[in-house]
Amino acid sequence: MEMSKRISILGSTGSIGRQSLEVIAACGMTVGALTANSNVARMEEQVRQFRPELAVMMDEKAAADLKVRLADTKTRVASGMEGLVEAAELPSADTVITAVVGMIGLRPTMAAIREGKRIALANKETLVCAGQLVQEEARDWGAEILPVDSEHSALFQSLQGCKDRREVKRLILTCSGGPFFGRSREELKHMTREDALQHPNWNMGAKITVDSATLMNKGLEFIEAMHLYHMPPEKISIVIHRESIIHSLVEYCDNAVIAQLGTPDMRLPIQYALTWPRRVEGPATPLDLCSCGPLTFAQPDLDTFRCLALALKAARTGGTAGAILNGANEAAVSLFLDGTIGFLDIADRVERAMDQVKVVQDPTMTQILEADQAAREAVLSA
Ligand code: NDP
Ligand code: MG
Repeated sequence: MEMSKRISILGSTGSIGRQSLEVIAACGMTVGALTANSNVARMEEQVRQFRPELAVMMDEKAAADLKVRLADTKTRVASGMEGLVEAAELPSADTVITAVVGMIGLRPTMAAIREGKRIALANKETLVCAGQLVQEEARDWGAEILPVDSEHSALFQSLQGCKDRREVKRLILTCSGGPFFGRSREELKHMTREDALQHPNWNMGAKITVDSATLMNKGLEFIEAMHLYHMPPEKISIVIHRESIIHSLVEYCDNAVIAQLGTPDMRLPIQYALTWPRRVEGPATPLDLCSCGPLTFAQPDLDTFRCLALALKAARTGGTAGAILNGANEAAVSLFLDGTIGFLDIADRVERAMDQVKVVQDPTMTQILEADQAAREAVLSA
């Protein structure tokens, strides 16, 4: 099947961005715009290989450097948030992969939605903060939002053919448990940045890898699933599945459980978000059932991994609770990554922000941004 799609990638130099480009190359799609923060060397390489119309560096100095390096090419260079928004809106692209990390992705995602683009959404933080507004805008502008996150892609795949969402009894998110599965709080106290950056099954950016160690990632994904599939928190559950072979499951009212299986390879969910409703041959590693080992399941430990408990609380609270949780977590994870606070302090700081910042129901965009800011300040002033 021929795939004449043109894709823009926000965050092309990151883990998801690079794997997206592998899929694009393998499937014969073309690139409209690429964006990054400061990694000029990798951006130059990507531009020379994929020849986009526009390349954007968030960082002004990096953009000036890139402009010099690309002087012999036809690619235009832009910078800053203006540039990111321009990349998101680029008329020639039909699909935008949102693979920047953090709440910074919210404005460009909204911009792409208002152009009616298909959004292949990796940037889960935007949905956690502003899921309701993002979904409303998408409905109003006829923009499809398709999940890149492997669990949500698995749910989406397991929901194909479901004619009435009321037939869904429960969404079951699988969780690898991260590098610290089975550890006690006493042991976690001494975990360092290096320990936290060793994930058993996935090779990802630093922020999401820490989130996978605290299990905050699963909490963010719980809220992401509520918004993507319009499900109340009571209808979503989480099961530890160390092998990351079953990527998530849907339980229906007749007790049938439909799952999607595969090797832990993000290129498959990325590709499905680009080709849906079709499937095409692609670069993802095939699954060999006889060698993937036994598949195991367990309950998550909410007492040890308090970030997950806090996220579930935010999920039940609704309103700006998601923005507060996420803003506090982004701030706390950067403090952990730069060595300012310990591993268990991440949950302490997030909890403190959730206690201090007042939740507003049915928030406007301004109220969401205020909640995010107040939560970050609460973390930094602790
Ligand atoms: P990375 O850290 O690997 O990449 C982040 C990308 O965003 C890079 O291109 C980076 O540019 C750019 N970026 C970082 N900060 C800014 C900023 N302030 N302004 C503009 N651009 C910025 O992250 P991942 O690819 O791992 O994750 C991206 C998103 O996808 C996250 O939301 C994550 O939760 C989600 N996700 C990731 C998965 C994975 O397997 N990696 C799985 C599921 C979801 P530069 O290189 O110049 O710093
Ligand atoms: Mg995931």
